[in-house]
Amino acid sequence: MSDVERIHVVVGDASYDIVIGEGILESCGKLVAEVTTAKRVSLITDTKVRELYGPKVSAYLASAGFEVHALSVAPGEASKSWEVAGQLLEAMSRDGIERGDVVVALGGGVVGDLAGFAAATYLRGIEFVQIPTTLLGQVDSSIGGKTGVDLSAGKNLAGAFKQPLLVLSDTAVLSTLPQEEWQSGLAEVAKSAVISGDEFLEWLERNAEAIVARDPKVSAEMVLRCATFKSGVIMADEREADVRECLNFGHTLGHAIENVAGYGAYSHGLAVAEGMRFASRLAVEGAHASREFVARQDALLDSLELPAIEQRYEPDEIARALHSDKKVRGGVTRWVLADGPGMWRCQAVEDSMIMEHLEAWAASKGGE
Ligand code: NAD
Ligand code: MG
Repeated sequence: MSDVERIHVVVGDASYDIVIGEGILESCGKLVAEVTTAKRVSLITDTKVRELYGPKVSAYLASAGFEVHALSVAPGEASKSWEVAGQLLEAMSRDGIERGDVVVALGGGVVGDLAGFAAATYLRGIEFVQIPTTLLGQVDSSIGGKTGVDLSAGKNLAGAFKQPLLVLSDTAVLSTLPQEEWQSGLAEVAKSAVISGDEFLEWLERNAEAIVARDPKVSAEMVLRCATFKSGVIMADEREADVRECLNFGHTLGHAIENVAGYGAYSHGLAVAEGMRFASRLAVEGAHASREFVARQDALLDSLELPAIEQRYEPDEIARALHSDKKVRGGVTRWVLADGPGMWRCQAVEDSMIMEHLEAWAASKGGE
C-alpha cells in the first residue's frame, strides 16, 4: 500500500472518505478542514486517550483555524450511557457549539458511538468526524454509521444512524494499545477475512506473525483491508437487505459467553473468536462446511494469539443467554454460519441442534 490510502464510501445521501495511514494524525486539521466549513470543533474523547493524544490533536485542529472545545468522558463501556450523552449535549451547548459546527470523536468504539450519538441529536444533528484510535475502532466500529448508547436492558438499545464526514485512521496510534484491546480488534479482523474469502484469508495467514508483532506496515494494510471489506458490506446492504448480517459471524455465541462469564471476563475478541470456532463446527452439520475448514480457522485464530477458551460453561446457561440476545427471532436462534472462506449464510437453528453442540463444546473444555 502507499503511505496514505482512501476508501470512498457512499451510503444513502452521504458520501465520504475513510483515510488510512501511519502518522496521519498530524494532518487531521487539514483533513477536517477539507470536509467542513465549521468554525468550532467539539472534540470528544476519553480521559485515557486525552492523556495520550488530546493536546496534540487539539493543537493540530487549532492550527487549521478551528476553535477547539475539548470534552472527555471516563474510559470504558459505562460511559456509553444516556446520562453521559446528556452531559455531553449540555456541555456542547455551554460551549456555544452551533448548527454548522462539527463533532470530532477521538477514541475507541465507546467514544465513537457516544460522540456520534451526541452529533446525531444535538440541534437535531450536526456534522461528525471519526478519528478511531483502537484497532476495533479502525476495522469495525467507525464504519457503518451506527451510533448509540446502552440501556439497562442491554447494549446499544438506543441510537441513531449517523454517517461521518470523514473517518481518519492513523495506524501509528495503535502502538500504545493494551494487549487485550489489540486482541478485540484482531478477532474482528479474522472474522472479516473468513467472511471476505480466500484472498484476504490467505493474506492474513501469511502475515499472522508480523501482525502479532504489530509490524506497522502490515498493520496498516490489515486496517485498509478490513475497512474496505466492511464499507463494501455496508454499501451492498443498501441494495440487498441483510448482507450486513454477515458481520455478526462469531458474535451469537460470543455475546452469550460475555453475558454468562460477565462482561470484561474475556476481551470481546476472545469471545468472538470462540464464537467463530463454534459456528464453524455447527456448519459442519449437514456437510456444509468441511472439517479441514474448521481446522484451518482454528489454526488461524491460534496464530493470531486468540486461543480457545478453556473454561467450561453449562450448556443450559449459555442457551438461556442465547435466547436473551436481541437478535433472537421467534424463539429460535439465528446464526451466521461460514461454510468456507467467503461462503456464509444466516439461518435459524433448532434448539435441539444447538444443545447438542453446546454439550459437545462443554465436554471439550476443562473443569469449573
Ligand atoms: P473502547 O472505546 O472502550 O476503548 C478501549 C480502551 O482503549 C479504552 O480504555 C480507551 O481509553 C483505550 N484506548 C483507546 N485508544 C487507545 C490508544 N491508541 N492507546 C491506548 N489506549 C487506547 O473500546 P473499543 O473496543 O474500541 O470499542 C468498543 C465499543 O464499540 C463497544 O461499546 C461496542 O458496542 C462498540 N462497537 C460499535 C460498533 C458500531 O458499528 N458502531 C461496532 C463494533 C463495536
Ligand atoms: Mg464485535
